Amino acid sequence: MSNKPTAHGPTRGLLLMVVAPSGVGKTSLTRRLVADHNDLHLSISATTRAPRPGEHEGRDYHFVTRPAFDDMVAQDAFLEWAEVYGNCYGSPRAPIMEALARGESVLFDIDFQGAMKVHAQVPEDSVLIYVLPPSLAEMSRRLHARSQDSEEVIAQRLARAKDEVAAWETFDYVILNDDFDRAYSDLAHIYHAERQRRSRNPWIGGLVADLLKEEI
Ligand code: 5GP
Repeated sequence: MSNKPTAHGPTRGLLLMVVAPSGVGKTSLTRRLVADHNDLHLSISATTRAPRPGEHEGRDYHFVTRPAFDDMVAQDAFLEWAEVYGNCYGSPRAPIMEALARGESVLFDIDFQGAMKVHAQVPEDSVLIYVLPPSLAEMSRRLHARSQDSEEVIAQRLARAKDEVAAWETFDYVILNDDFDRAYSDLAHIYHAERQRRSRNPWIGGLVADLLKEEI
């Protein structure tokens, strides 16, 4: 009885990559997941694109100049980086590694190619989730409604969405965002289940060894 284990041990963190075409509600889903979980941190990307109205330095992105971005690339400061619609975006390596070392998790709000690059580097600790729009017509409607992009960029985003959706089988999970609360619940359940994976909870080995020593 005396060595009956009661404590839950440390869980290994994971890299949660949520990919979706623009206008599918990904930002609302991911921001809420991070707000609801204090063991999950958002990776704040560096970008050379100008801030949009309402965006804040350090909260939405680290807004940097092209030379500053190139310096970070030269110093290998990014886990991955890419050029998207003429601007550069990169995921700073240090905060990601620090969170993992603390057993915490990191959520990436990055594009398809970035998610694939992170996954290739840390396959066992990354989880790929794709968020589907209910239809391309609805996605087009949302992109027009937010009036952030020119017609040309909207057309590019829709064409890219088609290519990505066609690659849906690359992802571990696919969520349909036709209803925000249900899509959020799916996302939160995926995160919770991934945290519970046996491979991320090596302390269970000790618990089982103790259980097997128990006299009954
Ligand atoms: P936006 O300019 O609309 O904020 O982002 C444009 C695209 O760049 C989105 O698909 C977004 O997910 C992606 N993105 C943002 N940060 C990163 C990053 O650090 N790396 C990569 N590869 N893509 C990113």
